[in-house]
Amino acid sequence: MNKNLPKFDPPKKLQLFLWYAIAAIILIYIYQSFAKFPSETISYSRFIQLVKANKVKKVSIGRSYIKGSYAVDGKNSLFSVIKVEDKNLVNLLLKHGVEVDGVISSDWLNNLIFGWILPFGILFFVWYMLSRRMKNSSTSIFGFGKGRFRIYTNQRPETTFNDVAGEKEAKEETSEVVEFLKDPQRFKRLGGRIPKGVLLVGPPGTGKTLLARAVAGEARVPFISISGSEFVEMFVGVGASRVRDLFETAKKMAPCIVFIDEIDTIGKSRAISSVTGGNDEREQTLNQLLAEMDGFDSSGGVIILAATNRPEILDPALLRPGRFDRQILVDKPDLDGREEIFEVHLKKIKLAGEVDSRRLAQQTVGLSGADIANVTNEAALLAGRENASDVKMKHLEEAIERQQVGLERKSRRINVNEKKIIAYHETGHAIVAEMVKFSEPVQKISIIPRGLAALGYTSQRPLEDRYLMRKDEIMDKIAMLFGGRVAEEIIFDDVSTGAQNDLARATDMAKSLVTRLGMDDTVGPIIFDDIQKFPLRTPYSSAYSDISEETKKIIEKSVQKILSEARSKARKILEENRDELEQVAKLLMEKETLSGDDLRDILNKKKEEKETTV
Ligand code: ADP
Ligand code: MG
Ligand code: ZN
Repeated sequence: MNKNLPKFDPPKKLQLFLWYAIAAIILIYIYQSFAKFPSETISYSRFIQLVKANKVKKVSIGRSYIKGSYAVDGKNSLFSVIKVEDKNLVNLLLKHGVEVDGVISSDWLNNLIFGWILPFGILFFVWYMLSRRMKNSSTSIFGFGKGRFRIYTNQRPETTFNDVAGEKEAKEETSEVVEFLKDPQRFKRLGGRIPKGVLLVGPPGTGKTLLARAVAGEARVPFISISGSEFVEMFVGVGASRVRDLFETAKKMAPCIVFIDEIDTIGKSRAISSVTGGNDEREQTLNQLLAEMDGFDSSGGVIILAATNRPEILDPALLRPGRFDRQILVDKPDLDGREEIFEVHLKKIKLAGEVDSRRLAQQTVGLSGADIANVTNEAALLAGRENASDVKMKHLEEAIERQQVGLERKSRRINVNEKKIIAYHETGHAIVAEMVKFSEPVQKISIIPRGLAALGYTSQRPLEDRYLMRKDEIMDKIAMLFGGRVAEEIIFDDVSTGAQNDLARATDMAKSLVTRLGMDDTVGPIIFDDIQKFPLRTPYSSAYSDISEETKKIIEKSVQKILSEARSKARKILEENRDELEQVAKLLMEKETLSGDDLRDILNKKKEEKETTV
């Protein structure tokens, strides 16, 4: 019986014993029901006839049959009858003086078989089939709670940093982890503090999983990987014990990498999940993970990597020092990055000589690494369908078209004209931000679409955390928000809808300045507190219900004045720096992302020129 159960390994003995026990019980049952009664089976109507003729002496009524003996011509015979639902039977039997008796003797067996063994047998079977279906299962149904980790013990990942194209910064930041894993002792001796947990953050398909494997591959250490959803998908109460098991395994295999993919599925903020109906199972798993991370020491040589594309929903407890306190951004690739990624993936297919990866990169703004891998694969399929001898540029271009049609709903596709507008718009923000007196330095300018709302973005890093802001600073911030729109006005003599969000933010700031901070000279130092009663932003007019009409007009005027002053300021700056605006925007169109230093280089050149001419 066990020969068709080869994969059903660990407690072989127990398993064999169970099968034998079941077989034995079934055999006993069959023996009891047939062997003990070498009786004649008669029809129910014949049975009734016999009863009515007073031939039947004795019957035993069982669950589904009636057995008994009758005497015909002085000769006793045993019989059995299939029982028929018949309410009058007992009366009839008693009337004809038959000795009636129930059958208990084999009912315990019936109970045992139908009440216990069969249901459990079925459950057992289903369970067994399920556990067989789970591939890579290193455990059996008897050991549930042991996680099924994909442990690449012997075939440690072959992936290296060379497989991860672009993402230079992310690679640099993870290379420290590699150094540490290669020789934990050396780090320990030097007393360096090594992060326990490193969180890779970025949009889907940017190579986070790939990078994690590459870290293991570079360090030549085992890679224990599990996906967050796997923790919670199976039996209730298993998540936490899996976490425990994961860490035990990891400690045994150190130095090694534990990789938790999609950590947001278990690490969802407890505050968020309690709103959507808490999930005890996930919470226990998360708590166990936190406890395990606190309880071990990374100098033992275990580093935990995790990946997520939704860092904003993670429980803050996960990001505290000693847990995932280091976060690495794995962002969508820029032009150079995409070119490199194309090169990596084009190596895998047979190419015609004419293929130009730079040109491909130029046509794929906004695509992720995974999208690009798809494109090259699709191109190979297209070429195959045509029976072409190799993959040509036209196949790749067609594949890009297809990929972008698919993406159109997900993220906006950007044409050349839009790209130009976005470039000037973002440059406008950036230059104003650099030139006003009170502003944080620009960190990065980008025209790579990030989501649905923002087309491009300009990011700034605050010089220091600030709680107090002067009026001038707020004015400068508003001017910076106008920078985008004003740049469009100057260059294209027209504005696009892309500035709408900027305007909304600028208006909000101006309103707070007037009504909540009491910073406006005309309106004076008074706070119109009504907004707090309407936390979900209501239309301007209704939010100030108990303010007189006159005051409302004054407020409106003041807000408008602030906005137009800020706008003129932005305009003045950009007109004075028109050449730089052009220069930076063109560079941005070419490179897609610029660092703050790139921007400052161009702006400073001008300053130097001025100084030398004076
Ligand atoms: P993520 O985990 O960020 O969602 P993956 O690492 O699973 O993305 O990427 C999926 C696939 O896309 C990879 O296996 C690889 O083929 C391709 N890919 C993604 N990013 C890159 C990259 N930077 N360089 C090369 N290939 C990449
Ligand atoms: Mg992934
Ligand atoms: Zn803008």
